[in-house]
Amino acid sequence: LKIQDYRPESFIDFTQADNVVAYQAALKKVRTELVGKHYPLIIDGVRVDTAEKLESINPCDTSEIVGSTAKATVDDAQKALDGAWKAFESWKKWTPDARARILLKASALLKARRLEACALMSIEVGKNYAEADVEVAEAIDFLEYYARSAMKYSGFGAAETTWYAGEENGLMFMPIGVGVSISPWNFPCAIYLGMLAAPIVAGNCVIAKPAEDSGLIAGFVTDIMLEAGLPAGVLQFLPGVGEEVGEYLTTHAKTRFITFTGSRGVGLHINEVAAKVQPGQKWIKKVILELGGKDGMIVDETADIETAVTAAVQGAFGFNGQKCSAMSRLIVVDSVYDEVVNQFVERAGKLKVGTGEDNANVTAVVNEESFEKIGKYIGIGKGEAKLLLGGETPGEHGGKQGYYVQPTIFGDVPADARIAQEEIFGPVISVIRARDWQDALDIANSTEYGLTGGVCSRDRARLEQARNEFEAGNLYFNRKITGAIVGVQPFGGYNMSGTDSKAGGPDYLANFMQLKTVTERW
Ligand code: GLU
Repeated sequence: LKIQDYRPESFIDFTQADNVVAYQAALKKVRTELVGKHYPLIIDGVRVDTAEKLESINPCDTSEIVGSTAKATVDDAQKALDGAWKAFESWKKWTPDARARILLKASALLKARRLEACALMSIEVGKNYAEADVEVAEAIDFLEYYARSAMKYSGFGAAETTWYAGEENGLMFMPIGVGVSISPWNFPCAIYLGMLAAPIVAGNCVIAKPAEDSGLIAGFVTDIMLEAGLPAGVLQFLPGVGEEVGEYLTTHAKTRFITFTGSRGVGLHINEVAAKVQPGQKWIKKVILELGGKDGMIVDETADIETAVTAAVQGAFGFNGQKCSAMSRLIVVDSVYDEVVNQFVERAGKLKVGTGEDNANVTAVVNEESFEKIGKYIGIGKGEAKLLLGGETPGEHGGKQGYYVQPTIFGDVPADARIAQEEIFGPVISVIRARDWQDALDIANSTEYGLTGGVCSRDRARLEQARNEFEAGNLYFNRKITGAIVGVQPFGGYNMSGTDSKAGGPDYLANFMQLKTVTERW
């Protein structure tokens, strides 16, 4: 298979009027063709409907039901598992090149429908144009990148072994079996797709359980994977409720691996139940977790203030702070605190609140549970720190009911305050005053998470110190701390942020394979 080297997709420039017009046309098309659609389960290549369904609500206008998916029962989950193991018998024998070809075809299909996928997410989860576009670009990148990764693992001797007289030795990478992929609503296209494409291209079969809030975009990209030629049973589409089918599958003896992106609480629960060996189980389940963050960015007295403030606004409020990589703690050295914070508050105060479809900077948060949780933390913050901006959860905008939360900034937040330690997953930022650089670094490391982090500084020695000592899986200097690009910034965190696997990194596929050393004596 001859293909050019991997290059990440470029992003669409929405300062160009014709790109905005094209996006609006896609919104119109999606409203006619996809809104109102119902996606059944897909088990063994067959679409199966269920008695109950899961409705997807537009968070920016909760009177609108965007569409629905089937809602799997444990019986459906069992069928999906059985079918996937059957499909595995032949899928594992496909060459990596042949499997990769399907991802490359899927990438081509998704490229052709890029704006539709974007527009659907604007309506289903409230992404603005750039946020949606960056995400679909990432989804395409995952397909392209993992396709190329798979090819590296091709054949006997795919990894280096040492020559030894009288024998032939080699390492083979073998797929491991059937796993469950439980993905989040905040990157319902890219992470959903990346988390299923990686194990699949490595030769495994996957039961994909999309998040309850974003079943439509998941259905949309699942169709693309099937259209690209995945054989029946290799990818089972199983929307359902986490506590029901998720729990059933993660505890099941026949589940070989679990890949989960989501909250710390659910991730730790999965880790615990998956560790318990069930009757008839003959392996130790592999669990790959990508959990939360309480990501801090330090600004010291040598920083370029303009750069730092831009990085803070982008990192904090992109997709309303609903990223595990989002900057939720801004840690500023005392001597520049007032200057940085005043500018940060001023810039954040100018952000436009509205719908994803109207391309607002800050839109509604995803669902009622998030809305309530964020509101609760804003209340806690009012008791813990000084409110500098926002602080209201109006729950409506422009006459539409929706989960609207004002961009909110708290100042002089004690480093151990609840709002400075617990993941809020919304547009609520804690600004923390540090005495000096070392104090700032200590504060940055004072959470149990370690996903992303940042430093804005022009002091070379400090950047070098941070490079070694800042506890984060993804560390950024003098820029925003979100928006990791596949292959460029392999993504995944330290400590409670996950199992330290790197999505979009060179060894990611190895999570879904086992090595076999084969020796033949001549
Ligand atoms: N990879 C994304 C980023 O760097 C964040 C993923 C997530 O929030 O789960 O912004």
